Amino acid sequence: MAPREYHGLVKLKAELAAACEAAKSEVIAAGRYLGRRQYHVALAGNVSARVSEDLLVCTRHGADKERLVQHDLVLCDMSGRKLDGAGEATSELNMHREAYRLRPEVRMVIHAHPPAATAFAATSTPLDQLQLPEMIVLLGPVCLVPYATPGSEELARNLSIPLRDHDAFLLENHGALTLGRTARQAALRMDLLEQNARVTLMTKQLGRPFALDPAGLDTLLSFRSLMANWGSEPLSTKQTSE
Ligand SMILES: [Zn+2]
Repeated sequence: MAPREYHGLVKLKAELAAACEAAKSEVIAAGRYLGRRQYHVALAGNVSARVSEDLLVCTRHGADKERLVQHDLVLCDMSGRKLDGAGEATSELNMHREAYRLRPEVRMVIHAHPPAATAFAATSTPLDQLQLPEMIVLLGPVCLVPYATPGSEELARNLSIPLRDHDAFLLENHGALTLGRTARQAALRMDLLEQNARVTLMTKQLGRPFALDPAGLDTLLSFRSLMANWGSEPLSTKQTSE
């Protein structure tokens, strides 16, 4: 009979393999979801999911996010070393690793270029005007991160302080980044960020945005921590419709 440790190791490997497959499915679902919304134009953007404390799955460099398949995914450790996969990991892996390092609860990181949010990033205009309830509760404050070359360690360093207490970012003159405890949370936060940019543009035409009084704002902020685990349902993997 095999020693007890052996059975433990087999079980651990099986659990890790299952977590890896689940992470791959989530990355594929998120890539297709965002691709259908035209957030990943011209193969740009990248998606990753945490497998364990030490491992993540990310899209390969140059993958078509709307048509992701298993072949487009790369398994890496948190130091950035590739462990499995046909292609090279996304060139923007550094900021994904930084997000997982600083936020143990985060399971998915998405970088995309939704057009309205990217316009704010390209003009270095903060998205801090709206106090709509869903924006405060589900998205939270949006941080405008100073420009650094995409993929560089400098960009990851620029993110390290705001990563601690934000889930949504504009990357100056580049695009957007969102995090989530689930794939759905990270993907819907990219939707909310883009919606924030579109509605902000419209409110600029109509007048001054409504400002909540401090008590109203505090109430919504208290909902934000109470609802930290929203969006637990899986994303659909269908290619054509949600
Ligand atoms: Zn980019």
